[in-house]
Amino acid sequence: MSDCIFCKVVSGEIPSDIVHEGKEVIAFRDINPQAPTHVQVIPRRHVGAIADFDASRDTDWLVELIDVANQIARDEGLDGGYRLVFNNGALAGQSVLHVHLHVLGGRRLGWPPG
Ligand code: 5GP
Ligand code: ZN
Repeated sequence: MSDCIFCKVVSGEIPSDIVHEGKEVIAFRDINPQAPTHVQVIPRRHVGAIADFDASRDTDWLVELIDVANQIARDEGLDGGYRLVFNNGALAGQSVLHVHLHVLGGRRLGWPPG
């Protein structure tokens, strides 16, 4: 998608602080971090939102997405706890329409979310 910010991060057109490059996914630090660790894990291919996930076909990227998120949490020393978040849709606060898994940690995270 030519007008998608995260597709441009994947292509390198928008520079980012990449922490992992996998077969189907990449991970990079959030430009506006909400916690000491705030990393985005995204599929290389354009998928608009997690609601668009189709279990009857492309499942590999989602498995890799979760695996990489857990790997980042280990690498960042988040053994005390961390949060993995998909915001889906406007009411949930999704602002970038390319699916992304937030990896948040390094401080106590409140619940419920605001
Ligand atoms: P959402 O609100 O859609 O769940 O999360 C989008 C996230 O992407 C936000 O945390 C925002 O700070 C981050 N973000 C938006 N544009 C960029 C960018 O160009 N580079 C990076 N690294 N993060 C971005
Ligand atoms: Zn995209």
